[in-house]
Amino acid sequence: MSVPFMDLKIQYQSIKSEIDDAIAEIIDNTAFIGGKALKEFEAAFSEFCQLDHCIGVGNGTDALYIALRGLGVGPGDEVITAANSFVASSEAIKMAGAQVVFVDCDPRSYCMDIAKLTTSITSKTKAIMPVHLYGQPANMPAIMELAARHALYVVEDAAQAHGAEIGGKRIGTWGDAACFSFYPGKNLGAYGDGGAIVTNDAELARKTRMIANHGRMSKYDHEIEGVNSRLDGLQAAILKVKLEHLEDWTEQRRRVVGSYRDHLADARLELPEEGNDSRHVYHLFVVRCKERDRVREYLADKGVSTGVHYPIGLPFLKAYEHLGHSNEDFPVTAAYQSQLLSLPLFPEMTEDQIAEVCDHLVAVVGAHKGARQSHGVK
Ligand SMILES: *Cc1c(COP(=O)(O)O)cnc(C)c1O
Repeated sequence: MSVPFMDLKIQYQSIKSEIDDAIAEIIDNTAFIGGKALKEFEAAFSEFCQLDHCIGVGNGTDALYIALRGLGVGPGDEVITAANSFVASSEAIKMAGAQVVFVDCDPRSYCMDIAKLTTSITSKTKAIMPVHLYGQPANMPAIMELAARHALYVVEDAAQAHGAEIGGKRIGTWGDAACFSFYPGKNLGAYGDGGAIVTNDAELARKTRMIANHGRMSKYDHEIEGVNSRLDGLQAAILKVKLEHLEDWTEQRRRVVGSYRDHLADARLELPEEGNDSRHVYHLFVVRCKERDRVREYLADKGVSTGVHYPIGLPFLKAYEHLGHSNEDFPVTAAYQSQLLSLPLFPEMTEDQIAEVCDHLVAVVGAHKGARQSHGVK
């Protein structure tokens, strides 16, 4: 049996008639940009996030960039983000004209290391952009305390963490704004690109809405130069349908992970930790193992698709060569980039599929306590 990394088709099939109706209605009404579906989705998503305002934009990268601009972050400012993340986090900082400062990840949570964050703050720091990596909330209580002490803005990169919580509070309700991606593979995915900014700050909501729409509130009164970054009607209609299933899907993701943990309890690999007071929404289930690339090849050979998030830490990318970083600057990110392995994970994953992945995985990495014979890579 082959096991895909994710299966967007099976999800579509499970809600086909709802989706097809929603799409047909948009086309019937030619409500391609703006319109009722967008308004309804924005209202539903802000409610989901337990926040007052939601601004649909073109994608998650734009959401981060527009939120930073809306807060007045620009040239001369430094913004601190995670070294182990997707490049969009740092790209958005550069797009706003600010300088990116990377912080190594915590060896257990995979999110920003708070001690290292503390020592990265300078007189130029204007904002912190924590990333709720893999669906696990960053340590928001500590980050907010630091931000308050140094009068910094906080923009949460929530692209992987729709519906995650920490300390009983939804992510997004902590910082000045949170930014989501609706890239198809995300926990809430559109059928194309999409993103959103959510906030409780009415003035920030007004500014970001204006920036995303050519710097205007009404047709031709451009108060500033903005950009064109919109969540279109079709995507909004699709997302509105899918949002109604999201809690369900999140619980299914958590079920899959629970099952993985049972199967892999004795396996010779490191399973990810879940914070005691957080709700991890498992965008990805990332384990760590030695000889990751060989393990990965072995699994591929058996028909099991896996991913690596991320094979090159952001500071080590060619794009950031000019910053002159070395492995010693980010030891955890540097060590982990050759060990991280993302296992197949999607809400519809069956127990048989999970067992299949785990059988092959244990066969290749081996098990503690002689629970199973290893006959693959040692
Ligand atoms: C996906 C992602 C983004 C960017 O979202 P896009 O919609 O692809 O632009 C930003 N940050 C992180 C951590 C992501 O995973």
